[in-house]
Amino acid sequence: MGNLIRFVSSHEVGHTIGLRHNMGSSNKTPVEKLRDKAWVEANGHTASIMDYARFNYVAQPEDNIGRAGLFPRIGDYDKWAIEWGYKNVNAKDEEDEKKQLNKLFIERYKANPRIWFGTYELGNAADARTQAEDLGDNAMKASEYGIKNLKRIMPNLAEWTKEESDNYSNLSQMYGQVVGQYQRYMGHVVRNIGGYYETYKSVEQEGNVFEVTPKPCRKMRFLSCTRTCLKHQPG
Ligand SMILES: [Zn+2]
Repeated sequence: MGNLIRFVSSHEVGHTIGLRHNMGSSNKTPVEKLRDKAWVEANGHTASIMDYARFNYVAQPEDNIGRAGLFPRIGDYDKWAIEWGYKNVNAKDEEDEKKQLNKLFIERYKANPRIWFGTYELGNAADARTQAEDLGDNAMKASEYGIKNLKRIMPNLAEWTKEESDNYSNLSQMYGQVVGQYQRYMGHVVRNIGGYYETYKSVEQEGNVFEVTPKPCRKMRFLSCTRTCLKHQPG
C-alpha cells in the first residue's frame, strides 16, 4: 500500500510543480518491452508518472515481472520536464530562453524519444497514442494481453472477493471493475479507427504535425501485427 500511495502522491506533486498529464508517454514503450522482465524493471512501463498508466496489465504470469515493472514511477520524461521548466539556461531574455530550450529539446528528443509529450487535454481527442489508461505502442496487442489477464481473474472473482458476512457487495463491485476495464480496452482499440495524430513540434523539427492514423495491414493478426505489417505494407 505504501508503494501505491507513493506513485499517486508523486503524480500529484508533479501537478503542484507545474506538470500536465502526459497521456502519450506510455505510447513510447513497445508492447513487447512490457513483457521483458529485465527491460521493464529497469526502465518502468511508462516514461512518465504524469500518464494515466496505472499498472502493467500487459505482463503475463509467466513473465515473472516484479513490482518495479508493474507500478508507475518517476521516469525519463518527468526528469526532462523539470529540467525544461526549472533549469537556469542563462538566457538574455524570454525570447532567448525560448530559443535555447527549443534547441535543447530537439537534441534531447533525438537522443531519447521517451521524453515525448502528448495529450488529449489540449483539444485533440482523436489521437490514438495519447489515451488515458492505455499502455504501449499498439492498443490492439496490449488489449489482447489485458483481456487474457481479465480471463484469469473472472473464474476466481467470487472466491477472491469473499469476506465473512458479505452480501456479495464485494463481488458486485469488483465485477463492475472487470467489465469497466474490458470496456477501456475496447475504447483504446476503437480510437485507432478514423482518427488522426497530432505531434507538437517547433518549426525546426522535421515531419508533419497532423497525420492520419496509419491503416493497418489487412493480413495482420493482432499479436503479430508489427511483423506482418512490415512484410505486407499498410493496406
Ligand atoms: Zn493528474
